[in-house]
Amino acid sequence: MTPLQQRLHNVKSALPETVRLVAVSKYHPTSALLEAYEEGQRIFGESRVQELQEKYVSLPKDIEWHFIGHLQQNKVKYIAPYVALIHAVDSLRLLQEIDRQAGKHRDARIANGLNPRINVLLQLHVAQEETKFGFSIDECLCFLESGEWANLHNIQISGIMCMATNTDDEKLIESEFSAAYTFFKDAKLRFFSADDAFCECSWGMSDDYLIAIRQGATLVRVGSYIFGPRIY
Ligand SMILES: *Cc1c(COP(=O)(O)O)cnc(C)c1O
Repeated sequence: MTPLQQRLHNVKSALPETVRLVAVSKYHPTSALLEAYEEGQRIFGESRVQELQEKYVSLPKDIEWHFIGHLQQNKVKYIAPYVALIHAVDSLRLLQEIDRQAGKHRDARIANGLNPRINVLLQLHVAQEETKFGFSIDECLCFLESGEWANLHNIQISGIMCMATNTDDEKLIESEFSAAYTFFKDAKLRFFSADDAFCECSWGMSDDYLIAIRQGATLVRVGSYIFGPRIY
């Protein structure tokens, strides 16, 4: 086993069966992804469209590609044929565009063995850091109450995503994941109780995935712990 494969193995052995690993490979070369692939990893997360495109073309076709970063509306069309899950949706406009592109690329998605609907997560902003991305809890509730998502038939809202504050304060991180998890459970009861596909909680990165597991995560997004530091 290579050192990368050993680190991948370490993360995987810490995950309960209910939690899947998204190996966050942004800024790393395809050779690094292949190393993880050869050790059995199939879910990879990327945050730049151009980079994802290049990797999608050159890597094995049974990889499940997740888009984890902020997605610009005008770039949805490039990834719509093959993306399995878009983690960070935080506006109706973006969701409508994903819906439109999923409709356009429906045949390609089916040919690629994917759900014809594009699965998406709603991004919650729970961290203390200033960012323009993510719904506040109130905004997300309003969005769900508006019902405007319910007639978009080419997307599937599959759950909630968030990032914790970048801090050593484990109590703070825990409280943020816990707030997201409470929101997820409320949303499930109120809006998705009959929808089995609304089941994913995406939180936890290299420094906090163990906390995330204790706070309901079903997907952890781990990058630098596995692949090493990113060179921007
Ligand atoms: C880069 C990134 C990660 C992975 O972060 P690491 O600290 O390298 O594990 C997870 N989630 C999102 C949204 C990211 O952009």
